[in-house]
Amino acid sequence: MFEIVPYLLICKFRESEKLMIVKVVLNNKEQNIDRTFDYEVPEGLEDKMQIGMRVLVPFGFRNKRVEGIVVGMPKFSDFDALKAVSKILGTEPVCPPETLKLCLWISQRYFCSLYQAIRLTTPPGMISGVSEKTENYARLAIDRDTAFELKEEFRRNRAVARARVLETLIMTDNIPLVKLVKEKGGTYDAVRYLTSKGYITVESEQVVREAYDEAKYEKTTAYTPTEEQKTVIDYLYNRIDNEECDKILLRGVTGSGKTEVFLQAIERVMEKGKNAIMLVPEISLTPQMVQRFVGRFGNRVAVIHSALSNGERYDQWNRIKKGEVRVVVGARSALFAPMKNIGIIILDEEHENSYKSETTPRYHAIEVAEKMSEDANCVLLLASATPSVTEYYKAKNGEYTLFEMTKRYNEGAMPTVKIVDMRGELFENKNRSPLSLALQAEIKKNLFIGQKTILFLNRRGYSTFVSCRECGEVINCPDCSIAMTYHKKSDSLSCHYCGYTMKNVTACPECGSKYVRYFGTGTQKIEEELKNLFPEAKVLRMDTDTTSQKGGHERILDKFKNEGADILLGTQMVTKGLDFHDVTLVGVLAADTALAVDDFRANEKGFSLFTQVCGRAGRGDVPGRAIIQTYQPFNATVNFAKTHDYEGFYKNEIIQRKRLNYPPFCDIIYIMVTGEDEALVKQRAEEIGDRIKKEMKNDKNIFSILGPAPAPIEKIRNNYRYRILLKCKNKDDSHGFLRSIYEEHEKNNKKTFLTIDTNPINMY
Ligand code: ADP
Ligand code: ZN
Ligand code: ZN
Repeated sequence: MFEIVPYLLICKFRESEKLMIVKVVLNNKEQNIDRTFDYEVPEGLEDKMQIGMRVLVPFGFRNKRVEGIVVGMPKFSDFDALKAVSKILGTEPVCPPETLKLCLWISQRYFCSLYQAIRLTTPPGMISGVSEKTENYARLAIDRDTAFELKEEFRRNRAVARARVLETLIMTDNIPLVKLVKEKGGTYDAVRYLTSKGYITVESEQVVREAYDEAKYEKTTAYTPTEEQKTVIDYLYNRIDNEECDKILLRGVTGSGKTEVFLQAIERVMEKGKNAIMLVPEISLTPQMVQRFVGRFGNRVAVIHSALSNGERYDQWNRIKKGEVRVVVGARSALFAPMKNIGIIILDEEHENSYKSETTPRYHAIEVAEKMSEDANCVLLLASATPSVTEYYKAKNGEYTLFEMTKRYNEGAMPTVKIVDMRGELFENKNRSPLSLALQAEIKKNLFIGQKTILFLNRRGYSTFVSCRECGEVINCPDCSIAMTYHKKSDSLSCHYCGYTMKNVTACPECGSKYVRYFGTGTQKIEEELKNLFPEAKVLRMDTDTTSQKGGHERILDKFKNEGADILLGTQMVTKGLDFHDVTLVGVLAADTALAVDDFRANEKGFSLFTQVCGRAGRGDVPGRAIIQTYQPFNATVNFAKTHDYEGFYKNEIIQRKRLNYPPFCDIIYIMVTGEDEALVKQRAEEIGDRIKKEMKNDKNIFSILGPAPAPIEKIRNNYRYRILLKCKNKDDSHGFLRSIYEEHEKNNKKTFLTIDTNPINMY
């Protein structure tokens, strides 16, 4: 199996008759590159030795004992006088040959060492020993959605450690403090800060080993499928029975019954004696979500997420390994559970960012799942109400089989959406309020008939981009067509993709108007406005301020539900999962903030967000209505959201992507050199840049190069950062070339660090 990887081939071939030899990859931080080392297996250990075993071996001239994993058992070695393996750790391979093969692929594809890839597939408990004693555990003192908001805010303010702590706790109920700091990138300072604010708590607890309590869950059985569901289910059954690799994209509006389709497909897989992997985004891995799977399949389900305690994770891993588990439900990392005999892999909400790993190995779960389904000859099912443009493009071009479910399972109507042109508010209606007259009228109507309203204010990209209040024009980079970011200190605008910088504008380049402003209305200001306009209304505000206390989020929702509040005003946290039947009106206050994001996926994210928000209206018997306020009433994305027209949105967007050469028409490769010595970092980046420019002349797969230049965030924790952006096809030829750049750097440089990321989420 190692023939596919040239650098693992060591072939001077000295015949050695009696000795058992193993090739070992070391867990050694200074040895980032995948050299394997040959060791002799002493007689007493020969019987127990297998590929994938963890071993201790002597290394270096001091013979320091280092941990490693056996990745091969060759007949020959080209080295004389091999050292001997000191010890075998554990009784079973941590990484069996099939998994090892996948790890090799990952290390190649995502530019990391084999050991780093192997770590994905081995629970931390197995590597570092499982602790059974009482420990200090950290857990959230606020609800996940609030924590998620806060985390985003810390990220924006570059409070990385605080963001990491929250990020980790969002995904788990509790986690040992030590682990939070040592493995998850938190700091004791950040923990102290968050504790003092009441966002998290730290308490001494027993190690909890159960990932869920089965007794709590009510048993459910399969529903009779609707016609749309039946078409998909019949097709899936056929594929499952044929044991063929087939990649399927299912687009189904929210409430069309996608989850029910998953459940029935998994049931079929289990009848065939095979197993299933079910991935959901971390943020969606809630008790309600788990309930649907445990309710149907009972204790044959294992739940895995990236921040289980060592003990829990170890137990789940073992249950899966022993074959006690038939369905693994979990976030991204559950893909690497030791599941054998896989019959189906499902990724729900495939468009979510959290499927992309932003730490090494920087893999995308969809790509890895594709690879796995090819290896295992099984079905891959991707699903979403608003598929990512890239995956939908693949489906349209025959790489996936496409199914669409366009109706809610109960035939419920989608809300009617109206777009309000905010330019007219200021200049025609002389209305300076952030609430348009049209929205005010609808709110009044709802108050009168006693129905509820949700108002949503997007704060992502808050006050960082500049737009014209008269014509709606957003100041974009001329080359990259993404919003320029406003820098207050220098009163300038810069592009986060190409680095283009200019003085802030004083007049609109499109219409000449002087009303050019950056965005910025807070929820508080709107709350005051609501109180002025509707003194009789009961208004609830849900944002990071009002939900920072323990249980704040639930308390507000509870009030909204039971205490006759009229209006719920909030940020991102009102967009997900709320299911109130008496909400009939939704208002999106500043759609523009969702559209002008410094990311080529801005439209895609905006469309998905509007679809989600508007979907909060009219979930009961009374049809819902939604109002989207915008300075760009002719913006294509807004208009497609208005008519719930995914297809139209896609057709428009794919033309833009093609024109500007963005994914899926190329891959964006982000090459980053970091280190404490700025001159050295710059020099390395320039060397790499020069190599790429030379290569570009004869490599048709590399389209363009930007940089090297200092990254948008030039320095983090005293490390200087230089980056190169590449548009290319990350396949075959150019991939091998990039791989060689990576390997050379790892071999020769100790003072600089190199990361190569394919289609990253953040470009900072
Ligand atoms: P989606 O995942 O597409 O948002 P769900 O699978 O969550 O949709 O379905 C929405 C609701 O409809 C759930 O409460 C589910 O139990 C119910 N449901 C789905 N399919 C059926 C069906 N065929 N018959 C009755 N109820 C169904
Ligand atoms: Zn203008
Ligand atoms: Zn640019």
